[in-house]
Formats: sequence, C-alpha cells, structure tokens
Amino acid sequence: MRCGICNYTPLELTTTTMEEWDGDELIVIEEVPVEKCPQCGEEYFKPEVLEELEALIERRRQLPQLQPEAILQVPVFKFALAV
Ligand SMILES: [Zn+2]
Repeated sequence: MRCGICNYTPLELTTTTMEEWDGDELIVIEEVPVEKCPQCGEEYFKPEVLEELEALIERRRQLPQLQPEAILQVPVFKFALAV
C-alpha cells in the first residue's frame, strides 16, 4: 500500500492508541493495528479494525467481564481561560 497523502511506500505496520467518545465518556483503546506512513505520519486503518473498534465500544456495555486495563484521570480545560 502507498500513502494517499505523500505517495510514500511502503507503509509501516505498527500499533497506535485510539481515543473515542462514547456519549460523555472517553474510551482509550491501546495497541490498535495500523499502517503508518513513515514519511508524513498519516495512519491507515483496515475497515475490519474500525469495525472491531466500534464493536468493542458497544460490547463493553453488554459484557461486564470486559474490564478496562486501567482508568485514567485526565485534566479538562476551557480554552478561553488558558490564554
Ligand atoms: Zn505519507
């Protein structure tokens, strides 16, 4: 596969961390497989990976045994107050 942004090839098979909002809850999913362009950094996800990500976010409500690896506390700011 070739990078759609800068045309570089080959892309690098690696993993990344995804953040997805589920309503007002932020979900972090680690070790998501991705093809990454070593030149410009663009990431390409296979459709089945994106489907599994969606399924994981939905399933976690139905499967109480699906426990998170960790719970993070994150700082939240209002933009206007930061300047
Ligand atoms: Zn690229």
